[in-house]
Amino acid sequence: MKIAIIGGGLAGLTAAAYLSDSPDTEGTVFERSPQLGGRAFTYEKSGFTLNYGAHAVYGIDRHTLQHMEEELELKFQSKQVDKRKVVYAKHGNLTPAPLDFVNIMKTDVLTTMEKVRFVAEIAAVIGNIHQLKHYRTLGEYLDKSNASSDVKELWEHLVSSNFFITPDDARKVSGEVIADYYHNLFLSSKPVNYILGSWATITEQLVQKINDNEKWDIAVKEPVESIVMENGKFILKTKTREALEYDQVIFAMPVQQVYKLLESSPWAGALEPFKDNSCTEVLVYDVGFSKVVARPFHYISDMDNKVFISDVSATDYTVVPVGGQLLQGIAYLNDDFQDEDQKKEYLESKTQQMEALFDTYYPDWREHTAVKRVSKKAMVSSVKNIHTNKLLPSKLPGVPFLFCGDGCEGKGELAERAFSSGRAAAQMMLSDKAKTKALTH
Ligand SMILES: Cc1cc2nc3c(=O)[nH]c(=O)nc-3n(C[C@H](O)[C@H](O)[C@H](O)COP(=O)(O)OP(=O)(O)OC[C@H]3O[C@@H](n4cnc5c(N)ncnc54)[C@H](O)[C@@H]3O)c2cc1C
Repeated sequence: MKIAIIGGGLAGLTAAAYLSDSPDTEGTVFERSPQLGGRAFTYEKSGFTLNYGAHAVYGIDRHTLQHMEEELELKFQSKQVDKRKVVYAKHGNLTPAPLDFVNIMKTDVLTTMEKVRFVAEIAAVIGNIHQLKHYRTLGEYLDKSNASSDVKELWEHLVSSNFFITPDDARKVSGEVIADYYHNLFLSSKPVNYILGSWATITEQLVQKINDNEKWDIAVKEPVESIVMENGKFILKTKTREALEYDQVIFAMPVQQVYKLLESSPWAGALEPFKDNSCTEVLVYDVGFSKVVARPFHYISDMDNKVFISDVSATDYTVVPVGGQLLQGIAYLNDDFQDEDQKKEYLESKTQQMEALFDTYYPDWREHTAVKRVSKKAMVSSVKNIHTNKLLPSKLPGVPFLFCGDGCEGKGELAERAFSSGRAAAQMMLSDKAKTKALTH
């Protein structure tokens, strides 16, 4: 069985690693950029390891990476972000983020009665009996709830930080999605971990797996431009080659881009409901210092401005040269603008808020800056998981391809959905292959 995988991000590499591990498969991963990893790619600059995206793994002990570690024999180490150094800033005051019961008891974000209420809510989510799962959105649940405004704000803030969206958007996430997500996360004993060496530690091993099978290859700088079906085979045209023939195709790229590629094909209609899905964008401000400028905490979330800073090097010492420090600032962005000028102004104000936060907690940071990277519209999730969007299933009726990526149905959010849907697409293809083999023998 000859397979084409279109997209060399986390989802495509995961699917290819599973498939290339199976006998009787051959295939190609097509990637349009010069590098692999997609939005999770990692690069070196002046001795710092920078992530295009962040590499926080939420609930690693209950994460799809656990299956991949075992099934693909991946080797990686992770380190937990120190929960006691994770703080929220509200109206200028710093207080422990209510990540676990110890922090909940210490935090000033809630009063004693509210703490009791919030702990009861967590217990109900863990026990799968929270009413939230019956509500269309978090907003509808909060509107009906008799909880205090601080507890409501905390729910919005939690969802906002785990889904990388604004609190307004957090209110639009489905109650069932949130109940499922936190059922998993609250049961985890490792809520936020970093993979040492960042995502590259994982992607390099996936690439190695694929390369270990000589019947598989990876074609970078080779975007797929069209696909047609002829006599039961798929014929791909890429930027550099014509008429490449495959038995099966997996799309591992954002659904909006899949739609563009298939716009004039017979399958465009089936993808139509997904083409206008909106994505999640953030402003990212990476800054590496030649020395540790200050280390008041490892993560600070500014609840007033919806901006947070992670001291990545406080947890993952491998990403900096000796004695250095790497911070990543992220601002959640609104996306309702009247015009480009208004958007530009808004992004400028967010950059200034971020720099003001650096000024407050990392005085003199400008003097010690060795590397800096600002991205004003980084796509975190290709489909924002709000009730008006629709995640793409791995398989669509009447469409002969499989799909994976963080905009597809799967377990978890963000990178986990890329991993889990990539793994599911490969398993689906292998099980279909086994069924066909059984029928023909
Ligand atoms: C700033 C930021 C912070 C983030 N933080 C976190 C975090 O802390 N934790 C977490 O879990 N996740 C995080 N994420 C999300 C995570 O990075 C993504 O969910 C994940 O990388 C998506 O992987 P993917 O394979 O689905 O898609 P992609 O990475 O987009 O991969 C798709 C690939 O397809 C390629 N492609 C597109 N069209 C074609 C074509 N025609 N032919 C060939 N190739 C094509 C693209 O070049 C790309 O490489 C973050 C992302 C960002 C940007």
